Amino acid sequence: MSQFFSRRLFILIPIMSILKFIFKSKKVLASQESFDKQYNLTDDEWKNKLSPESYYILREEGTERAFSSHLNNEKRKGIFYCAGCNQALFSSETKFDSGTGWPSFWDSIQGSIETKVDFKLIVPRTEYHCSRCGGHQGHVFNDGPLPTGKRYCNNGLALKFIPG
Ligand SMILES: [Zn+2]
Repeated sequence: MSQFFSRRLFILIPIMSILKFIFKSKKVLASQESFDKQYNLTDDEWKNKLSPESYYILREEGTERAFSSHLNNEKRKGIFYCAGCNQALFSSETKFDSGTGWPSFWDSIQGSIETKVDFKLIVPRTEYHCSRCGGHQGHVFNDGPLPTGKRYCNNGLALKFIPG
């Protein structure tokens, strides 16, 4: 009998550690844990705070339809803020027309974003999110204009623009 159990344990322990690993990596792929306690909200709290569309982008790493955001054509001077926590993320001075259908920037405001690699389209992409609330914003690519050569491809629904 005890031999039976120890054999079972012998099989179970590696399976458990594999499951634990899968669960952990899934958690990393989900929206980032917030760094600021004030924005460490539950899913329900975020749902109350955001529109369903913004919740899908910011908290579930969704992507809005290309050319669907009015911010795509926004050309006024101003600041683009995180729709989740109002942190300033981009200045209009770094906005450019990438032709992709998403608001695009060649630089972010220093310290306002964090990045991680995701594999949602199999090929690795660099995801970025707000450094304060952890809300997903978009993906950054290395085919942008000078001086940085970066292209921050942002969801309009994850931003709030304030001209001025
Ligand atoms: Zn934020």
